[in-house]
Amino acid sequence: MNRPDRLSNQMAAVTSCLLCNGDCLSSESYTINQIFSWWGEQGHSFSRKVLNQYRDFSRTALYTCKSCGFGIFSPMIAGTNEFYQELSSEGQGSYYSQETWEHRQALNDLQEYGSILEIGCGAGYFLERLKQRGKKVLGLELNAAAAAVARQREVSVKTTDIETIANSQQGRFEAVCLFQVIEHVAKPLEFLRHVLVCLKPGGLLILCVPNMAGILKKMDPTVSNVPPHHVTRWTPESLGLLGRHLHLTLVDLRYEPAYNFLRTYLGEWLRHHGIPEWITEQAWRLGLSLPIKFLRTLKPKGFKSLLGHTAYALFRKNEAIG
Ligand SMILES: [Zn+2]
Repeated sequence: MNRPDRLSNQMAAVTSCLLCNGDCLSSESYTINQIFSWWGEQGHSFSRKVLNQYRDFSRTALYTCKSCGFGIFSPMIAGTNEFYQELSSEGQGSYYSQETWEHRQALNDLQEYGSILEIGCGAGYFLERLKQRGKKVLGLELNAAAAAVARQREVSVKTTDIETIANSQQGRFEAVCLFQVIEHVAKPLEFLRHVLVCLKPGGLLILCVPNMAGILKKMDPTVSNVPPHHVTRWTPESLGLLGRHLHLTLVDLRYEPAYNFLRTYLGEWLRHHGIPEWITEQAWRLGLSLPIKFLRTLKPKGFKSLLGHTAYALFRKNEAIG
């Protein structure tokens, strides 16, 4: 992937919601320089090559729907292949999680499914586990370095665009998964239409996003939640609206427990209250982590008032669509 589209470098205000037509309000705005120095503070420096890919952009703003909570940045500045290669340390770093809460949910949901496509499969950790269970799998990953890492572990991965996959894999899969992918995509509805071509009628779509109506809503914006990394933001309500646009039936909507994200949340809360980071780290080592380990072990059912990082949606592709 090369430079983001130059034509989209305009501060076009988004007035109505892509999903529900509701009114949108601008709530956050960033300059490109701000965003890349923010990445620098997080320990990620990018090459001149990547910085040059964004030099035509000056600023981007978030527009949030007052009705369903869906958020979209304009101008749309998406991550390039090189951006993701460098962010993921050429596919070898910790950017792609080996095992997540949503992977465990999906492994359970996919027990009866034989052929599975994962869009945005990263270094292929999830597909590798499906393959070990005897499933027929294919991944799509535009980060060429991450795809190469997946292939080293004998996971079959394509690096072509979604239109090419849709043309070559029509109706081939019983299930399709997208874990933390759709918020990176410039045109989510068009993208998902192509994805759904690959799914058999009656097949299962698993879609996970950071849930902006959960614990993230109570926290400061992070650099990973702004362009060129995330270009849209989702709520359970906006996820549910996808069914209406894409001829899908929402089967289930689940939320990652908040305790999976409490360390980050508490760290931020303490920082806001003037507690230096090194004290928080020490407190963590000396036992602050124990209550969270306790919650994780017990998984109390009543602990649902604060939803965690991820929303997990299960959709069924309607039979009527071909
Ligand atoms: Zn909306």
